Amino acid sequence: MTQYANFHYTERITSDFLKLERGNGLKDLALATHGVNNGQAVKTGPVWSLVSGSSTDRDAVLRMISELDKYHGLPNGMFSCDEHLAGRDPSQGSELCTVVEYMFSLEHALAITGDPSLGDKLELLVFNALPGTFSDDVWAHQYNQEPNQVECSLHHKPWTTDGSESNLYGLEPNFGCCTANFHQGWPKFTNSLFVLSGKQESDAEDGLVAAAYAPCEVGIIIRGMAVHIAEVTDYPFRGHVRLNVNPASALNFPLRLRIPAWAKGATVTVNGRPSAYPEPGSFARIDRAWNPGDRVELSFPMSPRVSGWFNNSVAIERGPLVFSYGIGESWVKMRQRGLAADWQVFPTNEWNYALHVDAEAPANSIVVKEEEIGDVPFARSHCAVKLSAKARKVDDWRAEDGVASPLPQSPVTANQPESTITLIPYAAAKLRITAFPQAAG
Ligand SMILES: [Zn+2]
Repeated sequence: MTQYANFHYTERITSDFLKLERGNGLKDLALATHGVNNGQAVKTGPVWSLVSGSSTDRDAVLRMISELDKYHGLPNGMFSCDEHLAGRDPSQGSELCTVVEYMFSLEHALAITGDPSLGDKLELLVFNALPGTFSDDVWAHQYNQEPNQVECSLHHKPWTTDGSESNLYGLEPNFGCCTANFHQGWPKFTNSLFVLSGKQESDAEDGLVAAAYAPCEVGIIIRGMAVHIAEVTDYPFRGHVRLNVNPASALNFPLRLRIPAWAKGATVTVNGRPSAYPEPGSFARIDRAWNPGDRVELSFPMSPRVSGWFNNSVAIERGPLVFSYGIGESWVKMRQRGLAADWQVFPTNEWNYALHVDAEAPANSIVVKEEEIGDVPFARSHCAVKLSAKARKVDDWRAEDGVASPLPQSPVTANQPESTITLIPYAAAKLRITAFPQAAG
C-alpha cells in the first residue's frame, strides 16, 4: 500500500532501471515492480482493514487500481506486466499468473468493501483476459498475452526479462508457474458470484449479494433457513439474468444485486412486477419476504461503448466483453508435450486498421449481431456476439519482428478505401487487434 501512496513506477520498467546486470543487489526493486506481486497486493488494504478497522486501508484498493490503470492499463482490463510493469502500449504483455491473482484480489476486495466498481473490473478479467490467453480446449495457454497480439512466435518480443517462448500457446511456455496457477481462475470466481451481506453491521443486513454474474446455483443457510437460488443467464453475451429464489419456506432477507456501471437503463422485476429502477454502478436492494418459486429478473441493456487508450486509440466494449479484430490464424505445432503441445501462431492477413466510430454515440456506427451460443462459449468458430464497424487500413502501422509497432497517435489520416470489419469477443481472437487508431474525419 505504501508503494501506491506515492507511486514511482509510472513508466515501462527496463532492465537498466532494475540494474539486472548487478545481480541480486536490487532485488527489492525487481519484486516491487513484478506483475504477480502487484496483482496479489491489490487486496492488501481491504484485508488489513479487517484488522486495523481503518477506512483508509479499506479504500486503498481503489487508489492502487487507479494508479495501475493510469500508467500501465490495457483494454483487456489488465495492467501490463511482461514480467515487470510495462506501460500502456497494447503490444506489451500480461502474465497469466497475474490475471488470476488480480481476479482473486478483486474478489476479496469486493466482498470486504462492497464497492460495485470492483465487480465490473473483475468481470473484465474473467470474461476477457482469462479465456483470451488459453486455447478453446484449455490444453494450451500463454505466459504473456497482448491486447494487440499479431503473432505468437519465437521472434524477439518486447519483454524486459521474459523468454522468447512467453507468448506461445503451450503446456508451460516460458515457465511452469502459469500452468500451476491458471486453473484457479474460474473456480474461485464461481465461488465469489454470491456473497453474504454485512451481518456484523446489523441483523437487518443479514442477506445475500449477487456480486458478479454467470450461470450458477447457490445453496446457503440464511437466518437459520436453507435457501437455494438458481441463476439462469447467457451473461456475458446477453444482458438478461433470471434468479429463481427458493427458500425452504417464506423468509425475510435483503437481496442485493450489482448493477454494472455500463448498464444504463437497467431494470429489476420481482415476479414480473418492477421492483427497482437501479442506478448503474450501485447495488439494487430488495428487502422482502421471499417465497418458494419467486423469480427475480434483471435486464442490463448492452449498447456498444467506446473506451480510450494508448496514443488516443480506442477499444470497443459491450456489456462486460471487450471486442477485437480477429486476425486470421495459422497454428503451427512446435513440439508435442505428451497429451499437450506447444504452438506458434502466425497471422494470415493484414490487421493494420483504424476504426471509424462515433465515440459520442457508438450505436450509430457499430452494428451488433447476436448469434447462437456454442458449446464452447468463447470459441472463435462459434462467436455468440459479433460487431461490425467501418475501418480503413493505415499504411505505416506495421509489425516489427512479430510485434505490432506502437500505435500511431490518433486521429490518423488513412487514405485506403473504407471497409467494414467484424469484431469478435477478445477471448475468441487469439491473434487480435483490440486498441485501434481512430480514423480522422
Ligand atoms: Zn506465471
